[in-house]
Parts: sequence; structure tokens; C-alpha cells
Amino acid sequence: MVKILDGKKLAEEIRVALKLEILELGEKKGIAPGLAVILVGDSVASQIYVRNKERACESLGIFSEVHRLAENIEEEKILALIAELNEKNEIHGILIQLPLPSHIDSQKIISAIDPKKDVDCFHPENVGRMFLGDPRFFPCTPLGIVEILKRYEIKISGKKVVIVGRSNIVGKPLAMMMLRENATVTMAHSKTENLKEETLRANILIVAAGRAGLITADMIKQGAVVIDVGINRGENGELAGDVDFEKVCKIASAITPVPGGVGPMTIAMLMKNTTAAAKNI
Ligand code: NAD
Repeated sequence: MVKILDGKKLAEEIRVALKLEILELGEKKGIAPGLAVILVGDSVASQIYVRNKERACESLGIFSEVHRLAENIEEEKILALIAELNEKNEIHGILIQLPLPSHIDSQKIISAIDPKKDVDCFHPENVGRMFLGDPRFFPCTPLGIVEILKRYEIKISGKKVVIVGRSNIVGKPLAMMMLRENATVTMAHSKTENLKEETLRANILIVAAGRAGLITADMIKQGAVVIDVGINRGENGELAGDVDFEKVCKIASAITPVPGGVGPMTIAMLMKNTTAAAKNI
């Protein structure tokens, strides 16, 4: 019988513990963690993600402010806003909702954030520190995935982990984190010649490609653990992952659903990083 890895439930447990931590921080040091979110343009998906983050902050006693900027805003104006937020004492975390419009140099924007406030862990300094084994933060989605595996006591050390997708947000940092957990890591991507050959080797398969139905049951090793990071919106707005959930359930030993798997954990990890940033000032 396949085990459903319930990210929603785990995220709730994490939130309960964080709430106590935040109360204590307020009582002992008079600090409320603060998160600033910068949202450029009016992508519906980005607006939903930002609203979810705002709600999570509110429910935990994290101060939050959202800066909604027009799609055609100049780069200089975003940089000026970041400079302001870098100096603002009540803000401990700054998050740029990606993707940014194509006229904006995302890397330049991310690099302008004070690394101590980079709770998404996308700044080159923080990425480098993580790479070298001296992390300040871990990026939220990969951290949420590692948390799911650990909280369900799924052994990572020595296991074959195959990651599909090599983005800077999910695949690449996740590979580093899995190495840190002593996994043997394979990265597959859109240029991989025989994806099935790679995925069939996985004890733990993590899929972050953004392609609905990419992973079918014949691509799964019997008893593998499957983590589906993908979020794909169907014609009627319904959400689906990258994995054929129903059929893969018959082969895998454990699997994350979409929605209710990695997504809620990503937000919980953002709250965790913001609280840690507030504690470390
Ligand atoms: P991306 O588009 O930046 O990267 C996608 C990666 O998948 C690329 O490296 C590409 O090489 C690979 N890929 C694409 N098609 C492929 C194929 N046919 N075979 C093998 N590899 C293929 O995407 P991203 O930002 O990493 O996000 C990936 C997915 O995860 C998206 O659906 C996104 O919405 C979702 N996501 C979810 C969360 C969450 O919290 N649950 C967080 C971030 C991203």
C-alpha cells in the first residue's frame, strides 16, 4: 500500500512549532519577524503564491508587506526599493516573486538583496555558501522536500536519488542538498537522452519539470519514493503535478500529492527562514 506523504499536515505541524518560537522571540527580544515580498506584474499564479505567503505570515505573527509593482517598471526602481528594504530594521526577509518580466535582469535584482535577508537563498553568496558546506539558508522548496523525507523517516544516505529538472530554484540546489545527505545523485533534464532509463534507477525520484504527465508508471522502480514538485494548471484551473499520480501509486512505496505535497512545505520553509533571519540579527 502506497504511503501518501502529506505535506499539508507536516506544514501545519511546522507552523505550530514556529508560532511558539515567534511568540518567544517577541517576549524575550521584542522582535516580530518581518518579510517583504516584491511582486512585479499581474501573473495570476504569482498573485496566488504571494497571497498564500501573506496569509501564512499573518497566521504566525510575522509582519509582512507586499510591494506590487507594474509589469513595465524600470529595473532601477526595483533596485531602489530593495536598497530601502535592506536598510529597514523591521524587515528580516526580502523575497522577489519569480519569474520577473523579461526586460528585468533577475540575477542583478537578486544580487542586490542583503544576503542576510535573502530568505529564498538565491543570492550568489548564499548559493556559494551552501555549495561549500557553510549554509546561511537553504532554498525553500528543496528544504521542504528534505523535510518531508526526514519527517517520514525515509533514508536518504547511500540511496540513488534522481532529480528531473535543473533549475536554479529547485533542481540544482536540491542536488547539492541531497549530496549533503549522502545520496548518490543523478540530474536529468530536457536534454537527457533516455529519461526512463534514469528514472528507473531511482530509489527516490524527485520531479520538478513543470510538464503534466511526464512521469508514467513504467518509469518508476518498484517501491521507489516519488516526490512531485510540478505545479501544472489544467484548462479548468485544476492543479496537477508532473507525475501520473493514480498509476504511479500502484508501483511506488510513497508519493507526494499535488496539491498538498511540496507546495505547503515550501511556504512553511519560507516562514522558518524568515524567523531564523530575525533571530540572527
Ligand atoms: P523551470 O522551467 O525553471 O525548469 C524546468 C526543468 O525541467 C528544466 O531544467 C528542464 O530541463 C526540465 N525539463 C523540462 N521538460 C523536461 C522533459 N520533458 N524531460 C526532462 N526534463 C525536463 O522550472 P522550475 O522553476 O524548476 O519549476 C519546475 C516545476 O516545479 C514547475 O511546475 C513549477 O511550478 C514547480 N514548482 C513548484 C514549487 C512548489 O512549491 N511546489 C516550487 C517551485 C517550482
